[in-house]
Amino acid sequence: PYKGPSADEVLEKRKQFLGPSLFYYYQKPVNIVEGKMQYLFDESGRRYLDCFAGIVTVSCGHCHPEISDAIMEQSKILQHATTIYLHHAIGDFAEALASKMPGNLKVVYFVNSGSEANELAMLMARLYTGNLEMISLRNAYHGGSSGTLGLTALNTWKYSIPQGEVHHVMNPDPYRGPFGSDASKYAKDLQDHIDYGTCGRVAGFIAETFQGAGGAVELAPGYLKLAYDIVRKAGGVCIADEVQSGFGRTGGCYWGFETQGVIPDIVTMAKGIGNGLPLGAVVTTPEIASVLAQKIQFNTFGGNPVCSAGGLAVLRVIDKEKRQAHCADVGSHLISRLKELQQKHEIIGDVRGKGLMLGLELVTDQKEKTPAKAETAHLLEKLRELGILIGKGGLHGNVFRIKPPMCFSRDDADFLADALDYSMSKL
Ligand code: PMP
Repeated sequence: PYKGPSADEVLEKRKQFLGPSLFYYYQKPVNIVEGKMQYLFDESGRRYLDCFAGIVTVSCGHCHPEISDAIMEQSKILQHATTIYLHHAIGDFAEALASKMPGNLKVVYFVNSGSEANELAMLMARLYTGNLEMISLRNAYHGGSSGTLGLTALNTWKYSIPQGEVHHVMNPDPYRGPFGSDASKYAKDLQDHIDYGTCGRVAGFIAETFQGAGGAVELAPGYLKLAYDIVRKAGGVCIADEVQSGFGRTGGCYWGFETQGVIPDIVTMAKGIGNGLPLGAVVTTPEIASVLAQKIQFNTFGGNPVCSAGGLAVLRVIDKEKRQAHCADVGSHLISRLKELQQKHEIIGDVRGKGLMLGLELVTDQKEKTPAKAETAHLLEKLRELGILIGKGGLHGNVFRIKPPMCFSRDDADFLADALDYSMSKL
């Protein structure tokens, strides 16, 4: 049994020594002391079904034995030396990752987080095109570093600092967007922004295919194809942010962008790539990658042996355990359960997503789509009482984000649906 400090003691120390910008879920935050696959355990040994995977990060499961072993074995031999020397792990991992990419996306840069990956992607876009202006979607989250904060388009995270040369175009959100699922109308807005708001030439366009922090919004079908064409005509490169939606999570495809039938010029990754290790990557074409050769692009920890060994094990486990097909199967079961609940509970405005990248948007008025902010917060607490940890998101905090470790089973999906049904019935 756990013998460490209590939740109150942990919270007290956090308040004393850590920054006030940290936030936590639940009026009385959960003190997580252990994790095993799709389950988390608190200090009293209580088990929770994890439906949020450490913010869509624990792809294969908490402390997955094969991944933990790979990390530990490498830690015993060599933890760090940097790329000024040779070590096979970074190349092995890059080769395995490149083999998962379509087209000519064959060159990998390793970093330590999603923000770093997007910073690097933006740098490449600007150097390669010789243009400055970037475009991202409203409702996007691409990071909290000074450059990526400009790409992020949700005021929750935006400090008042210079936001760079970034334009935010209309979000092709089928539920809340003014044009519903009509991708061509949103694409027209993008074209208008380029025509009226930029010099006519742009460096790049970045988008998540399934917006994460923005509340599990799946872009209107066909949008990315239209957007990529428009951006490329304006001299820009197209960046897919796969920090949340990659690695088979959406079921039908390994990458989120593939669900829209496009091939980006640059792909950024983090979170699920490491199953919890601090790891990120940027993959691009040899031609685009070559622009960085003007100088040295160096990252002390990027591709270090421990993260590379762990990341390689993640890729192996996803294939070996057929996680992509599993996400498709469990995801479609869960979506149909959630759609049934939608018939029964007026508060469910929208059920969306693919595989195990799902969103449940709660509204107090189906017609007006008034965000059920207080109700969502209340249900979050109730679900926790029932042993379920789930994510929350969207600008108004009224969307449940269901993105569990990919080992999540049909039984887990039923338990979640039953718990939602029960707690919504008590509202
Ligand atoms: N892109 C997306 C889509 C994300 O969800 C996040 C993190 N929530 C980031 C980038 C930034 O990643 P990190 O927190 O690792 O810097």
